[in-house]
Amino acid sequence: MKTKKVYLTEDEMPRQWYNVLADIKMNPPLGPDGNPLSPDDLAPVFPMNLIEQEVSTERWIDIPEEVLSVLSIWRPSPLIRAYSLEAALDTPARIYYKYEGVSPPGSHKPNTAVAQAYYNKAFGIKKLTTETGAGQWGSALAFACSQFGLECKVFMVRISFDQKPYRKSMMGTWGATCIASPSTETQAGRGVLENDPDTPGSLGIAISEAIEAAVTDPSGETRYSLGSVLNHVMLHQTIIGLEAKKQMEKIGEYPDIVIGCAGGGSNFAGLAFPYVLDKINGKDIAIYPVEPEACPTLTRAPFAYDHGDYACMTPLLPMYSLGHTFVPPPLHAGGLRYHGMAPTVSQLLSEGILEAKAVNQLSTYKAGMLLAKTEGVIPAPETNHALACVIDEAKKAKEEGKEKVILFNYSGHGLIDLQAYDKYLSGQLENIALKEDTIEESQKVLDQYPKPELLKST
Ligand SMILES: *Cc1c(COP(=O)(O)O)cnc(C)c1O
Repeated sequence: MKTKKVYLTEDEMPRQWYNVLADIKMNPPLGPDGNPLSPDDLAPVFPMNLIEQEVSTERWIDIPEEVLSVLSIWRPSPLIRAYSLEAALDTPARIYYKYEGVSPPGSHKPNTAVAQAYYNKAFGIKKLTTETGAGQWGSALAFACSQFGLECKVFMVRISFDQKPYRKSMMGTWGATCIASPSTETQAGRGVLENDPDTPGSLGIAISEAIEAAVTDPSGETRYSLGSVLNHVMLHQTIIGLEAKKQMEKIGEYPDIVIGCAGGGSNFAGLAFPYVLDKINGKDIAIYPVEPEACPTLTRAPFAYDHGDYACMTPLLPMYSLGHTFVPPPLHAGGLRYHGMAPTVSQLLSEGILEAKAVNQLSTYKAGMLLAKTEGVIPAPETNHALACVIDEAKKAKEEGKEKVILFNYSGHGLIDLQAYDKYLSGQLENIALKEDTIEESQKVLDQYPKPELLKST
């Protein structure tokens, strides 16, 4: 039989993460006074061991044994060849996916949640607060906290809180508390509700609430945890790409194209950064982050300094941003509704090392349906964005008659997103176009901040 899946044993799991900061230049995050932030400024929000990782420029960072041990519940994750999808597309391309849907919460997110829970626990923290969009991050952190005996409180974006009830049940099962954001529990939440009681919420608003809840806890034993965007999150996710590289090597393959969907950038970075290292060292490889047309951070927004959250509690980060007041339309891929993008991913895009793609909502579900009917697996709506791009590239390979090797990240399964599939199946989903005026309007908040320098790493 042909090789369908490539596995690694626990002993073959990578023992170090890859830190892209060793290989690229970055604009620094800026504090409220407009000056570069010092690590101490972050101490009320994050434990110092994670802050050290956030600013580290060491290329390889050891993964603690305690973290590897929890990751081994589902890692190494399989690399799977999509033969039936290839056949359906009649493409000469060979399509592989890294299956991150095998984790207990069902996505790539516990790769960093487990590491973050471990480092907080090691620092003496008792409770973590966070926000969640579609609920994957909240459930990932709830799972991780339960593994390390930490308390967990999750502010969930209102629209997803209403649309995706089962992730709340997962969080509850793992012992976490989950409330809808904006909430009346924080100043940030109350402020938004006063202006707009029916708001669908946004990740930016929920982040403000979670940070406020952490820094105002009088015990001093609560910290905040972020599931994407930050450097240390990208770092923890690189285990995906490092495993994928070993797996591809085992079967004598190397990708021509690497693809991941991008919300805050973490699953994309996780798969892509180990290949970015190769590209910086001269490999000819195309690397595509894919986003929704309805939240076009990488394809239509400027590279700017902006806050990571609605209430401007986070430092100014150098990133592609639609503006922190941007409230994206209620598209179903909740995890891709963020106004900004990881500074590392942004830097690489600004240098042309990455090329961003945007896809419309209907094409993503069409792609997901095709994968379900060929390979059998039902992907998360977010993953479908990567998949829509994979299908485009496989068709191009056919037109050009080229045997391209395409590798994409299957960031999560869609078994808790079936309501969105129902809507697609009954014709209730539409493409959501964003008018240029809307984008220009939301970007006005960026005018007040300094502009990042255009740096060249290579
Ligand atoms: C959260 C999520 C995403 C988007 O977040 P990134 O940080 O961009 O990876 C994508 N896919 C799935 C399944 C998710 O849960």
